Formats: sequence, C-alpha cells, structure tokens
Amino acid sequence: MASSFAPLQNKGLLGHIANVMSCLDDRAYYNVVHSSNGYILDKNSRPVADRPPGGGPFSAVMGISSGEDLVLLSESCVNEVLLTGIPTQHAEDRAMRPEIYEKAITILSDFKKAKKEVVVWGFSSAEPCPTCLTKFVIMASDLTKRGLIKAGNFAVVYGASYEDTLKIAGFNDQLYAKNLKNFSIYPHSQNHPLKVIQIERPRVPDAVWKLFIKAKKPMACIARDGRIVAIGEDMRSPYDPFSTPEVVAINNACLNLRAKGIQEPWKADLGEMYTTSPIGPLGYASAQWTSIKYINKVVLPINQSGSPHIASEVEGRQNTDLLKIVARGKNNGVVRLVHYSKYPNESQLLWRDVIAVHPQAIYNGSTQVRYQQTRPRTSPEEQYFGTSGTRRYPEFIR
Ligand SMILES: [Zn+2]
Repeated sequence: MASSFAPLQNKGLLGHIANVMSCLDDRAYYNVVHSSNGYILDKNSRPVADRPPGGGPFSAVMGISSGEDLVLLSESCVNEVLLTGIPTQHAEDRAMRPEIYEKAITILSDFKKAKKEVVVWGFSSAEPCPTCLTKFVIMASDLTKRGLIKAGNFAVVYGASYEDTLKIAGFNDQLYAKNLKNFSIYPHSQNHPLKVIQIERPRVPDAVWKLFIKAKKPMACIARDGRIVAIGEDMRSPYDPFSTPEVVAINNACLNLRAKGIQEPWKADLGEMYTTSPIGPLGYASAQWTSIKYINKVVLPINQSGSPHIASEVEGRQNTDLLKIVARGKNNGVVRLVHYSKYPNESQLLWRDVIAVHPQAIYNGSTQVRYQQTRPRTSPEEQYFGTSGTRRYPEFIR
C-alpha cells in the first residue's frame, strides 16, 4: 500500500504540504482570537464583523494532487461547533461538507477522463477525532467505489497529535478514540461510558415503538422520559454521505435545544438514542460528543426487520466491521494518516494562554472571553492571495 503514496517522496508536493499546514495553523490561530461579542479580531484587534466565531484552535482543508500539483477544494475551514450548536461540526467535517464534496467529485471526474492518477488529501491542524476519522474513511470508501481514486490513494496530514492537543490545549480526543476502540473489542460490555444495548418491544418506549413500527426506512430518534425529543431519518445524498439517521437525530436534538437558547446543547441531558440499525462508528463517535449514555438498537418484528431498516455507514459493508476498521486508528488500512511533525502549534499554544486566563472557557470562550491579540499576524487571506509574496500557496479553487 505504501507505494500508492509515492507523491510523498515528491519535493514539490512536500513544499505545498508545508505551506498548507502553516496556513492551517494561522487559520486556527485566527479562530481562537475573539472579541467579547464573539467576533474574531483582526490583526489590529478590531472585530471582523462578517465572520462569526467558530470554535477552538482547529482548521482543515481538502485537496487533490496529481504528480507535483496540488489543488485545494476550499478556503481552510474551522470548527463551527459553537456557531451552530452541533457538536460534530469540526473543521474536518466542514471541509467535507456537501458543496465541497460535490466539487471533489467534479474535479476527480475530470482527472479520471484525463487518465491521471490522483491522491485525495485531507489536511487538518490536529489529529482527527474518531468522528472525523470515520468521515474520512467513508469518503475514501465512497470515492474508491465510484472509481475516482485507487484504493489507498487517500491521505490525511495532521499537525497537532492527540498528545499535543491534550497537553497543550486540553482537548482529550485520545479518550474518545480509546473508548471507541474498547467498544469495538467488547461490544457487549456494559462498562463503557457510552453503552449499546439491544432491546425488544417490552422495553421500548411506546412513542419510539410507534415511530419505528411505521417506518419504511432506517430511522433513529432521541427520547427522554418516554418522550421523543428528536427524530433522525436517513438524509444521505450523493454529496452528503454523512447524514445517517443517528447523526441527523443528534443534530436535530441539539438544534432544538439551541433554538430554546441553550448555547452548549451537547452538555444538556439529551436522553437516550434509539435506532433501527446496528450502530456504526459514525453514530457511536457522534454520540460520544454529547451527554448520551445509551444507544438502544431496537429489535423490530420479523416482517419489519431486515435490510430496509438498516443503514450501513459504508455501502456494502456491515457497521460492525466498519467500527473495527475505524477503531484501528492509524492502522485502519483505508485512509493513511501522516503526522506533520513540524506543525508550529501556535494556535494551540494561544488557546492554552486563553484558557489559562479564563479557566471557565473549557471548550470555547467566545461568548465570555476578552482576549487581545498580542502577536502581529498576517491574516490567512493575505497569505492566500500572496500580498507578501513570500509563500507560494497552492492553486485555490473557488
Ligand atoms: Zn473531529
């Protein structure tokens, strides 16, 4: 498989990667610096009014290389968890959102017509959490199935490792990865922080049972005290392979709470998840970002159960198998993960400074933190468009 990644030996491409990673750190740095109103400050400490706050010190972008050339599919994306209230809208998720996914398919189709071998790249300022890793695995599997890339031609270069992110910025993604791994090894254990159980009719709340028994498609919901608080249908489409029933149910539950004025819905008591599918890594890892403690796989009557009610996170693969693949982390065999050890980590260091001053801002202090930018920075936009002329940035497709 290593031979599939020959471009890594390529000096020109390595230069591009160095530039991208440097810009990602700048973008993530930018994302940390907010005014007390939640606006990002520019280099003169003036709020940038047209850009709402995103999240923590994270940034990501997708790219496609052919030989020495690299094209990026968007401007670098940032974590938007605080902006939207959706706990899984991490930078990588934003970098694979539907309009960018569609652009990737279009560009890859052109390369295919030109008979050029390509590698798809995810660049992330930090090691992807299990949710984002699952999304990369799903995208790589989908592009391979469409015949747009060779199996193995999908790599993710990341800056800060799990260890860096924990030690410097205080985010413990390693714990989520470890919990997912433990669950994949011992799926029936009830000692996991997030438990998965199979339940039959007598234990299924009436409202959930009525919903599921009528369903013609895979479905999930979140229920609390016997009441359904959010429903998730399979909303996946050709350019959105991630909106599975479980993901949609979680997002809807969080959006409902956000609409009621709850700023951090992932911390609220959402209830328990119910689903008609065996849980896969995307559903499991997404639920890990919320307060959900139980995922209930509901056993439907014989004439109701079967494939129409099972949503495979990757077509043609069982969710339990996909779970084992993602749980292997760097050794997943689908997406190659490359640690860019020269990553400057300035965004995470800044984050550490911010939370040292404002310890209440554990996740993001955009609504409370007043922090003046002390170091002059070039904005990522200036670097993209090269006013300084010192950095050659890869071609940027709008
Ligand atoms: Zn993530």
